[in-house]
Amino acid sequence: MIKSVTITLVLFRSVENKKAENPGKDDEDMKKNRMGKLDLLVTEFCFGALPMGPLQANIPIDYGAHLIRKAWNHGVNFFDTAESYQTYPYLQKALIDCPEAIIATKSTASTYEEMEKSIFKAQKELGRSLINIFHLHAARATPAVFEERKGAFECLKDYKKKGIVQAIGISTHAVDVVEKAAEVSDIDIIFPIINIDGMGIIRGNTSTMVKAIQKAYLRGKGIYAMKVLAGGHCIDRLVDAIEFVRNIREISSIAIGVVKEVELDFHLLHFNQQSIPQELLNQCLDRKQKKPVILNFCRKCRICSETCPSGAITMGSDRPLINYEKCLACGYCLPVCPEFNIRFA
Ligand code: SF4
Ligand code: SF4
Repeated sequence: MIKSVTITLVLFRSVENKKAENPGKDDEDMKKNRMGKLDLLVTEFCFGALPMGPLQANIPIDYGAHLIRKAWNHGVNFFDTAESYQTYPYLQKALIDCPEAIIATKSTASTYEEMEKSIFKAQKELGRSLINIFHLHAARATPAVFEERKGAFECLKDYKKKGIVQAIGISTHAVDVVEKAAEVSDIDIIFPIINIDGMGIIRGNTSTMVKAIQKAYLRGKGIYAMKVLAGGHCIDRLVDAIEFVRNIREISSIAIGVVKEVELDFHLLHFNQQSIPQELLNQCLDRKQKKPVILNFCRKCRICSETCPSGAITMGSDRPLINYEKCLACGYCLPVCPEFNIRFA
């Protein structure tokens, strides 16, 4: 059941000003939920670090770190990234003195050795010895992923035993992978795509994904959600889209990407059950989502099409075509192109 949401018109008052008026109060406000069977108590809002990095907005490290640190200072304790997002430098700069911050990362590694390198890279570039959550990054994988990437999975299990990885997870866009992960005892956390329109969900829809999430939850898996705004497609229904997912009680936290201060201010107020000034809401609704664009140097290798987790890229006669109705603006197609032929614009 979707909660009714009241947006109260009040004069704009920034979160920074509010904190100055109520020093120390914000840190206690944001609701936390236990995630799975492990000792992970995470804020309902998870700061998504994907869009600030080179795959998307590519904002300066100082500014991105400022946003992350501001979120931390206002009580947000959960941050999501991935090796492929190239956003470790932002998180290290912001949270180097905050070992209690919970960071989830991911690797597309398949073999034991590749995953071991990913773990070392995360430790070095995040500046911490413990990685709280390490996912198999498996956006468009099938349920065979646990066999196909057995080496990488074994590596995560070994590093959990060593106390270097706290929890093992899988990030996925596919309903049947969530169902399968629910049955895999060594998986602690699942990070599925879910949104009000069902965009980007592979081999299912919103309803079947919710059922899979419920099954996983009943088996003790911790769950947090991605792409609740469907890569910007739901931005015109910002509050309703977030509340839809927030009201799925099996979901402990919602990862939402932030690249601007107004977006962070909105989430801090919204997840703290506070009124949203209309001016602030308007600024968030006004966000122009960048999109991938194919340039002219294509050698028709199809890698971008095979990589896109949303099936948004098909091969045309002389170059790939992007279906923007399906594109979730994840940016995954950019780094895989051997010709650097895809840009965000
Ligand atoms: S085309 Fe596909 S891979 Fe590229 S940004 Fe869109 S959804 Fe992501
Ligand atoms: S990955 Fe790059 S070169 Fe290959 S088909 Fe896509 S745009 Fe063309």
